[in-house]
Amino acid sequence: MFNSISMTYLSATISECLGIKPPMEAEKSAPMVAERVQAKCHKPVDRVLIYNPDALGMWMFQKYTSEFAPVMERTELELPVATVMPSVTPVCFGTMYTGVLPGVHGIKSYTKPVIKTDSLFDALARAGKKTAIVAVEDSSMAIIFSGRDIDYFFTKDDKAAEETATELIRDGEYEVIICYNQEFDDVMHESTPESEISLAAMHHHIDAFARLSDTVKESWKQYDSLVVCATDHGTHVDETGYGNHGDYIEEDINVIHYYGIYPKTEL
Ligand SMILES: [Zn+2]
Repeated sequence: MFNSISMTYLSATISECLGIKPPMEAEKSAPMVAERVQAKCHKPVDRVLIYNPDALGMWMFQKYTSEFAPVMERTELELPVATVMPSVTPVCFGTMYTGVLPGVHGIKSYTKPVIKTDSLFDALARAGKKTAIVAVEDSSMAIIFSGRDIDYFFTKDDKAAEETATELIRDGEYEVIICYNQEFDDVMHESTPESEISLAAMHHHIDAFARLSDTVKESWKQYDSLVVCATDHGTHVDETGYGNHGDYIEEDINVIHYYGIYPKTEL
């Protein structure tokens, strides 16, 4: 059974939470998120942090639930989401940040062209929201949304990406910050999703989201803020015995996205 909310939901949902026009072709938003923002903040949020860990599928959350406590403690909504096919990184992030299916944004296999379709980053720029993407150099997220009127910060590894995102949150200049991390996807391809190094990577991502969310709470006190933990697809062990993804199976398609709403605590 696949989750009922399509990965196409995210761009319109974030746009609604910020009170801006969504990307031009974006499909419908998910229920509840913008309503919860309105209930808690009585207006759209001022700021958004999105953390994108690669490949942390729903079954990891189902099996290692208590390990995800740092994420659950900092969020209040968990949305079951079905990603798109083929369930590989550039295809899924392409859909996440345009709100359209792969047949529309054009990445239909593991390739990393620049997407021409109107994206959340174009919508943010049109709305005058100062936006930063922080990602490891040469990763899909560092390439496929190039050329927008936003700022890009490319780092040598995940740790440096988290450090850069932390500095940007503290500096306060950016209203929307996206931070992409890839360790889990990297190491599970070299082993299995439940190998020692993969579970360590899962923890690194959980802890990075927790630290970034705490930095938002400390540094964005004068702003109503939304924090989001949104992965792109899941994983499974394939016939070679190694971790993989890309198939139309629950393990690869079903993911969970987490939302935390932090109303301002200072005027
Ligand atoms: Zn991925």
